[in-house]
Amino acid sequence: MPATVIDGKELGQTLRGDMTKEVSQLKEQGITPHLTVIIVGDDPASKSYVNGKKKATAQTGIASDVIEMPSSTSEAELLEKINDLNHEESVHGILVQLPLPDHINEQTVIETISPHKDVDGFHPINIGNMMAGNDTFLPCTPYGIIKMLHSYGIQIKGKHAVVIGRSNIVGKPVGQLLLNEHATVTYCHSRTHNLTDFTTSADILIAAVGKPNVIRAEHIKQGAAIIDVGINRQDDGSLTGDVDFASAAEKASYITPVPKGVGPMTITMLLQNTIKAAKGLSRFGR
Ligand code: NAD
Repeated sequence: MPATVIDGKELGQTLRGDMTKEVSQLKEQGITPHLTVIIVGDDPASKSYVNGKKKATAQTGIASDVIEMPSSTSEAELLEKINDLNHEESVHGILVQLPLPDHINEQTVIETISPHKDVDGFHPINIGNMMAGNDTFLPCTPYGIIKMLHSYGIQIKGKHAVVIGRSNIVGKPVGQLLLNEHATVTYCHSRTHNLTDFTTSADILIAAVGKPNVIRAEHIKQGAAIIDVGINRQDDGSLTGDVDFASAAEKASYITPVPKGVGPMTITMLLQNTIKAAKGLSRFGR
């Protein structure tokens, strides 16, 4: 039987509907959740991601502004801007769109954002809290993946989850969150030998590689849940994931499409984190 398709767009809309109600209640209490996004340079893909975030905040009633800085901006100028926003009481969430120009150190930038305004969940303090299983800002894509698994009733506890990819923003944290939920987790990456040996025993398979068709039917255990994080642009301009959807869907129990899978959930969890920041619910208070 073909797999159930996990509709990230629809789930994201449902969650955003609930968030819209929560935002209007917060406004009645005099709190307007506010996200500030900083973009340095004019990379078209980054601009399009920022536009998506702006649209989503407006849809839920979250205030947002975008600070555009030229690619010639020095690291010191960017850090000064972030420090100003750290002290600006009306701003609850700060997001610096990555990647940054080569002359700016991304890690320094991430560590300059106040941990209680770090709605991307990339600050080492928030990463540490995530590892310890403490309530904190979770990185949006891994958070969205866990939300999808929960919403579709896919059991995590006791299952074997295989994560392909070990980046700091997707692979490593999603494995950690699955571990926190009592999965047995295996990480695979570019130096893994015999990938199929690992993937064919996965009950939950997360592909976060960035290469089309790296996962095909022969990699998949019958009945597995497949989460395709990859976003790859094809020659005709269309998007595809890391998984060969047609063959994988014949074997899997659940599968996410690309687009309309993980992508909309990532933005949805950014909104969730912004609301959390506005409520002063980070571990640091306000
Ligand atoms: P990355 O390039 O930082 O990491 C890719 C990982 O894949 C690396 O850890 C590498 O070891 C591993 N890898 C590369 N080739 C491999 C192979 N042949 N076999 C096994 N592992 C291999 O990328 P990232 O930032 O983690 O993003 C991964 C993909 O997810 C990209 O396509 C990116 O665009 C997409 N992405 C999507 C969202 C979303 O919201 N849907 C968010 C973030 C990233």
